[in-house]
Amino acid sequence: MKRRFEIDEWKIIEKEFNSKNQLAAESIFSIGNGNFGQRANFEEKYSGESMQGSYIAGIYYPDKTKVGWWKNGYPDYFAKVINSCNWIGIDVFINDVLLDLSKCEISSFYRELDMKSGTLKRNVICKNQNGDLFEIKSIRFCSMNDDSIGALSYSIKPLNFNGKITFIPYLDFDVKNSDSNYDEKFWTEKKKIINDDYACILSQTKKTFFDVATSMKISLEPKINEYETENIQKKLFTAKKITLDVKKNHVYTIKKYVSIFSSILNDSKSLIEISKSKVEQAFNFGFEKLLINHKNSWSKIWSNADIYIDGDTASLQAIRFNIFHLYQTYTGKNPKLNIGPKGFTGEKYGGATYWDTEAYCLPFFLKTAKSKVAKQLLLYRYNHLSKAIDNAKKLGFNDNAALYPMVTMNGEECHNEWEITFEEIHRNGAIAYAIYNYVKHTGDEEYLKEYGIKVLIAISKFWEQRVNWSEKKNKYVILGVTGPNEFENNVNNNWYTNYIAKWCLEYTIDSDSKLNDKSQINNKNKLKWIDIIDNIYLPVIEDSNIFLQDENFLDKELKTSNCIPINERPISQNWSWDRILRSVYIKQADVLQGLYFFEENFNKKTIEDNLNFYEPFTVHESSLSPCIHSILFSKVNNIDKAFEMYLRTSRLDLDDYNKEVNEGLHITSMAGTWLSIIEGFAGLRINRDKITLNPKLPQNWNSYKFKIIYKNKRISINVLKDEVIIENKSDSIINFSIFEKSYFVEKKLNVRYNAD
Ligand code: BGC
Repeated sequence: MKRRFEIDEWKIIEKEFNSKNQLAAESIFSIGNGNFGQRANFEEKYSGESMQGSYIAGIYYPDKTKVGWWKNGYPDYFAKVINSCNWIGIDVFINDVLLDLSKCEISSFYRELDMKSGTLKRNVICKNQNGDLFEIKSIRFCSMNDDSIGALSYSIKPLNFNGKITFIPYLDFDVKNSDSNYDEKFWTEKKKIINDDYACILSQTKKTFFDVATSMKISLEPKINEYETENIQKKLFTAKKITLDVKKNHVYTIKKYVSIFSSILNDSKSLIEISKSKVEQAFNFGFEKLLINHKNSWSKIWSNADIYIDGDTASLQAIRFNIFHLYQTYTGKNPKLNIGPKGFTGEKYGGATYWDTEAYCLPFFLKTAKSKVAKQLLLYRYNHLSKAIDNAKKLGFNDNAALYPMVTMNGEECHNEWEITFEEIHRNGAIAYAIYNYVKHTGDEEYLKEYGIKVLIAISKFWEQRVNWSEKKNKYVILGVTGPNEFENNVNNNWYTNYIAKWCLEYTIDSDSKLNDKSQINNKNKLKWIDIIDNIYLPVIEDSNIFLQDENFLDKELKTSNCIPINERPISQNWSWDRILRSVYIKQADVLQGLYFFEENFNKKTIEDNLNFYEPFTVHESSLSPCIHSILFSKVNNIDKAFEMYLRTSRLDLDDYNKEVNEGLHITSMAGTWLSIIEGFAGLRINRDKITLNPKLPQNWNSYKFKIIYKNKRISINVLKDEVIIENKSDSIINFSIFEKSYFVEKKLNVRYNAD
């Protein structure tokens, strides 16, 4: 396979400029810090194909839901993550010619994302239309140490001329989205300040009225006594124009410091003041010091979250790429923020929260960060409980039943395809499962008592009302749903949905009974829930252990996915929707998602048989799919298949498997990649008061080493060919079960195993 980027342990490197790859590279080389993020757009003007993207956590625009055939219950809007102030921009004129790489002859190009230090670098040598030859060097970062700060250094070195260079560093809120309707723009200006080396724009989003203040300070190096400056002011735009006389082989550098504050996390009235004082502080610190602090923060993250793979640099680079982007997207500082499927790397999915957070991302943060990070994700849903109750009420449910939105920015549903909004009700199950997972990992029963139980009860009430009794089947059924497999809609008795509904009811009753206080569940509800648990219909293929994805699954033409010609893949981009719906092809793990979540309730043979039955029909056209398959293949000891799926999930974006990386990265599935190693190859599970391991080593790896945080204790695990080494970095003994044998680990343990 021809790879676009060099293989390297810590870096993503691009050594050639190809304008056709620019959109994809802009996604891959994105940087962020949990509070804001930036696609790898060039600082200077670029008239080639590009998608401008500066995003701020939580800032969205409620676009009008446009459907010809309105259905009651549709949400009024769908959320759009919006492009915010372009803070990296610097227009450059070389002897009065606008610098635009798409018009230059590029003789050398180097772009590097250094994941260890969280920096994006670019070195270019090119000649413009005038024949002026020069070198551009830039480096930028979104500070992990102070998540309101972004900084960049941008240099030009004339290589064959003495002359004039003009730099115009700017702040530009006059931006639009690439998915804007009719070039619609989203910002109105509230205030603008510009003086000496400082500028600030305070803008407000239309409709949602979020305020954002972006401030900038600039410096020029070397310090030159005489040069012309001019302030440029336009609507939503402010800039400083600096014109210098330059000499051949001298380097001229602009440093740009910005601070970004939004009213999502701050008081609107103080935005200008805090952003001014923060940018001044950053300026006084200077670029180098800011960079050191930023790198130190990254090194702390890596000290908990890194995975080292010996023997396969492509896999190592890929897993680090996944971990890196997850932390760029979410750091768990505030329960108002969450994780959009594209993070800060693109517009698709509107920056909104999906079930991806609970089902995929939460386990990653649970094991790589202190428990308070995962708790913020749970509190996000807890704080939206009343809106989930309103959402259910709007759809005809009562008694404070809650249906969480499938897609949300603020607790309200903001997606408007009926088959997803109304039918993908399994998301309620993932939200309950996340509470279970969190409590299991952290032992934080207080959370359950104070917050979790309220969410569980409201979700259970929803299931109680969503099932109905079928006289024909003599069972409770759930009709008209879409399971995780979105290539099939409006099905009856999707096994996964029915199973998770039953599990939610059981877990709610169980949790309530353990809280020692008076039960919070009304007796009538409880009796009904027990009846549903005992009598819900769970479809199976007769005389087998294969659970049926839905009641009519076997009516389909059971052709395996290898019958689809290569040029028709991905089918979501090549087939009509109608053809997809009628086909047997499965977008992502569905029954298998259930077997993954609830593996303790099924024996290995059942898991293996279902995996072997469903995987051949699965086209993995959701990024969330290969990781679950990889984990299950590891579980049933099919390491080659597990590894094939691992490569597919871990290098999904780097190698652009689904041909859509130009739209942004698959941030939420990156957590699944991490799980493929930890839960897949290492077979790590948290079981009551012990950690279980069943490690395996993929054939072309010599070893792998990772760390986890378990009940706020740090553990390092190194899996070698015939040995596992565990280091307990805490002061208390930790209980392990390794290959079904118990160990109490005080500091270090070596266990030998037979890889065959
Ligand atoms: C998947 C969903 C997922 C969404 C966002 C869709 O393609 O089918 O399960 O929630 O993407 O990642």
